[in-house]
Amino acid sequence: MTTPQKVADDVVVTLDYELRLDSGEIIDSSVDVEGLSYLHGHGEILPALEEALTGMEVGEEKGVTLTPEQGYGQPDPEARVVIPAASFPPDMPLDLGMELTLEDQMTGQLVQAYVTEIRADGVVLDLNHPLAGENLHFYVKILGLREATAEELAHGHAH
Ligand code: ZN
Repeated sequence: MTTPQKVADDVVVTLDYELRLDSGEIIDSSVDVEGLSYLHGHGEILPALEEALTGMEVGEEKGVTLTPEQGYGQPDPEARVVIPAASFPPDMPLDLGMELTLEDQMTGQLVQAYVTEIRADGVVLDLNHPLAGENLHFYVKILGLREATAEELAHGHAH
């Protein structure tokens, strides 16, 4: 195997990153995991971020700002559902902001939802991504590049 020199499709990229909002607040970073690894070109990370990283070399660092359209979209005020309180187990703790996984009855797809309101008649869930409407300011530094294994390519993610 040869070591890839640049970020390209089918390369496993290890990077340090920080994600800030417009306010400057850091909402995510790789400090705790000592570098995040992903398989480039397989949609494991946001496509616009992938595009910005293409061609970078080990040791290179960069700031990348994504608009909401390049990130998690604009929030849709209609994307709310009210689930009757009786649908939840009585001993289930429900807190504002809590993340729940719902299964779409039609497609069987799993969707993330967030508790936005707890009312007498039910719980209001927001189906928007919590980062919808936000500009995303990434700071990335490439730590390592390697060829993906056949298994990783078959799975479409880094191991
Ligand atoms: Zn796998």
